[in-house]
Amino acid sequence: MSDVVDPPLSDTVLELLRSRVRGPVVGALDDGWDTSRRAWHSGVDQQPAAVAHVADAADVEAVVRFAAEHGLRVAAQPRGHGATQHLDGAVLVRTGDLDEITIDTAARTARVGAGVAWQELCDALDGTGLVALSGSNPSVTVVGLMLGGGLSWFGRAFGTPASSLLAVDLVDATGVARRVTADSDPDLFWALRGGGGDFGVVTAVEFALHPAPALYGGRISFLGEHAPQVMPAWAELTRTAPHELSSWLLLAHMPDLPQVPEPLRGRSFVNVDLMFVGSPDAAEALLAPLRAAAPAVRETVRVLREPEIVSIAEEPTEPGPPMRAVSHPFDELTDDVVDHVLATAGVGSGTPIMGLQMRHLGGAQAAADPATGPGAQIRPGFVLSAMAPVFDPETAALVDEALAALVAPVPRSEHGLGLTFLQEEQPIEDAYGPEALIRLRDVKRAVDPAGVFRSNHPVDTGPAQAGRP
Ligand SMILES: Cc1cc2nc3c(=O)[nH]c(=O)nc-3n(C[C@H](O)[C@H](O)[C@H](O)COP(=O)(O)OP(=O)(O)OC[C@H]3O[C@@H](n4cnc5c(N)ncnc54)[C@H](O)[C@@H]3O)c2cc1C
Repeated sequence: MSDVVDPPLSDTVLELLRSRVRGPVVGALDDGWDTSRRAWHSGVDQQPAAVAHVADAADVEAVVRFAAEHGLRVAAQPRGHGATQHLDGAVLVRTGDLDEITIDTAARTARVGAGVAWQELCDALDGTGLVALSGSNPSVTVVGLMLGGGLSWFGRAFGTPASSLLAVDLVDATGVARRVTADSDPDLFWALRGGGGDFGVVTAVEFALHPAPALYGGRISFLGEHAPQVMPAWAELTRTAPHELSSWLLLAHMPDLPQVPEPLRGRSFVNVDLMFVGSPDAAEALLAPLRAAAPAVRETVRVLREPEIVSIAEEPTEPGPPMRAVSHPFDELTDDVVDHVLATAGVGSGTPIMGLQMRHLGGAQAAADPATGPGAQIRPGFVLSAMAPVFDPETAALVDEALAALVAPVPRSEHGLGLTFLQEEQPIEDAYGPEALIRLRDVKRAVDPAGVFRSNHPVDTGPAQAGRP
């Protein structure tokens, strides 16, 4: 247990909350407090008022009513991949037990509870020939990603995850469970398609599935020394790729540390991660010039089943050391950008950056109608993300300098990426255009005038919403 001198809620208040909620409620002096309040990122030390592990929607109603009575905020946080310090002081709602998954293959829809992670949903879709618009990570939740807009393996082919939403079950600021659709509450439904967790606690979502009878993808790894050949070939691939092909480039510098397996330790790799909705032959015809650029040292590209989609990028499912990171949307991958990235973060640059990823965006998500929701349309052509571990203030300063030098010369897109790639220190204005933000704030004031709900990226931190701890 952490060293809590003054618990945020008195025993009496905590007991009252416990008496109203079926699931476990954990307070600051209880065993399991640190586990319950832990964010996925080890760098975020969040300090909620209490943590409620809700059993069902009725529990969520009880938590929201209790918070409203006691002048507390409520923040849903299924897993905490997007945790920020904005949730401090709120009653944290953990949704892990809301684990319903119902697939309707005929209607091509799914309904999932707010605790369901992408791996669980992809497992349930195995063999259906249908895909949900998943991101890259198996342990991120479906609801957490969809509410933020979402950058998906299928964004180019089918659009953003948020735009696939058909209905949202949520508990509103009066503590009442409601089903929200485009017909029932057009403004609120619009906001939920990418506006984040500021409008209620979502208990389940229904969304469209997309037909994908053939999937082909995986990772091709090259030695980091070959990045000067691989990166231009990948840039060329993105210029000609059809919407069915999504590819991301990862430049990885493995630290020279005993925790890293011997064959990888201290070495650099350039990986191209791929997803193609279609046949292997059609994909390989597109990939030929990339393959010719340099010899691959490892490869996982194959015909994919649905459960394998979320492991293409081989991302961690457990948090590592505290990290500093940057996400930078840009529109054009020019030769100058390629040269700059190689010079700043390539092999021999001496960069402290450990991982640098460029995701090719565009396609259906760029062409989507922005009126569908604040996270329906993602217009930047690419996003450059980079990160490095920080162990002490000196490393942090070096890393910050390196990240700033990496992105500064790359002209930033004037369009946002929604919430899911927004870093804590970035303003909400980086996520949306001005019109969407005005509308989101109007919806927030209409549905939650007292500011009961607090998202990891609040749409409004103005005076009307600031009256709670
Ligand atoms: C390793 C890694 C890989 C990632 N890959 C991708 C990717 O490919 N594409 C992408 O778009 N994003 C990606 N993300 C970002 C991720 O989508 C966000 O962090 C997002 O917040 C979901 O994470 P989570 O499910 O843990 O939600 P949490 O971090 O637990 O919640 C984030 C916020 O979502 C809202 N929220 C979540 N559930 C509810 C609910 N039931 N009711 C109301 N509000 C709710 C709340 O505002 C909450 O603060 C990745 C993150 C990591 C760490």
